[in-house]
Amino acid sequence: MVRAFLIKYAEIGIKGKNRYVFENALVRRVSERLERCEGKFLVQKEQGRIYVEAQAEDGSSPVFDPDEVIEALTHVFGIAHICPVVLVEDKTFDHVCQALVEHMKDVLGDKPFTFKVFAKRSDKEYEMQSPEICVEAGSYIIDHMPQARVDVHDPEVKVYVEIRQRAYVYVTSIKGPGGMPVGSSDRSMLLLSGGIDSPVAGYMMAKRGVRIEAVYFHAPPYTSERAKQKVVDLARLISEYTGPIQLHVVNFTDIQLYIYDKCPHDELTILMRRYMMRIAERIAKERHCLSLITGESVGQVASQTMQSLAATNAVCTMPVFRPLIAFDKNDIIEIAQKINTFETSIQPFEDCCTIFVAKHPVTKPDIEKMENSEKLLAEKIDQMLQEAIDGREILDVRP
Ligand code: ATP
Ligand code: MG
Repeated sequence: MVRAFLIKYAEIGIKGKNRYVFENALVRRVSERLERCEGKFLVQKEQGRIYVEAQAEDGSSPVFDPDEVIEALTHVFGIAHICPVVLVEDKTFDHVCQALVEHMKDVLGDKPFTFKVFAKRSDKEYEMQSPEICVEAGSYIIDHMPQARVDVHDPEVKVYVEIRQRAYVYVTSIKGPGGMPVGSSDRSMLLLSGGIDSPVAGYMMAKRGVRIEAVYFHAPPYTSERAKQKVVDLARLISEYTGPIQLHVVNFTDIQLYIYDKCPHDELTILMRRYMMRIAERIAKERHCLSLITGESVGQVASQTMQSLAATNAVCTMPVFRPLIAFDKNDIIEIAQKINTFETSIQPFEDCCTIFVAKHPVTKPDIEKMENSEKLLAEKIDQMLQEAIDGREILDVRP
């Protein structure tokens, strides 16, 4: 019976001296994620791997659901592969072979397959050496599973036998999400709207180990409570991958109305976006974030021409990461579907941008012109920005 999981990681294995930072972050993320699964688990790192072992309450067998654990681990960045492992306490060779074949019958049934045995022996006192283990385990398998055939070049099933304190046997390997463990990089502020793109952008940065906070601008009563709830729902959905997210909800109504009142309407979208970036950056600094993230992609809409991107970028001093910049919409949608945000994103509640858009927004804004328009706001805008920041609502969003 499967009692443990071997976690193989790819990229973090090559980080040289800082490797332990990545490993420790991964151990923590795995432990946190497993807290939401039934059962108790011990998570340990050992020689470039992490082992998760289901723990029993005093001597009985552990209660847990292997499928639930695998599902949980496929949400933890930094994991390349997850291998369900059978632990053999009595590691005499016969015992190991029996447990192995029993497990293989469970997993493979009667269908024909080719295989190769890989052995590893860290217990140097063990009765056999690795090459001998491979040969003997191989013939034991053939004797007990007539449908099995050896193929040392391109086996369908890789059979692993590891002799440590106890013996570990495993034959399956499930693909993990890849990337780096969240927390192995620094913190970043995601501009999260209710659309398709920004949740995907947040997911992608978290996949590189970045810890995510988020800011959402709403404009009540022009945008509804449902529109805000949709953003909270999206934050919750990506928190399955990113871990808990602090969501800063900023009331943008007065600023929007003020811009609407004072500035040329064809510039509204860009001006609004410049103020959003400014506010996001100020909250980001307060929260010790080192960068901003948006879901922008070149050419997708009027506010995402190269000139528009330059105009919004110009007000930021922090780096602005736009992981979707070169993605086609279809490719973004594919990821949104994979991470389960798509259905929520396409619910029809407007975010604050769609209400105040002009019929013919400028698509090639001139930064100098924008700056001149902003001078028309000089009287009140600083105070309004501060009020919007101070009055924000902060939500702690968890999976
Ligand atoms: P999305 O699908 O992410 O909403 P979009 O295609 O609608 O993007 P825009 O409306 O131009 O594009 O927004 C570009 C980016 O600006 C968004 O990806 C998001 O990062 C940010 N943004 C836009 N509106 C808001 C908002 N109301 N609150 C927070 N961020 C926003
Ligand atoms: Mg949008």
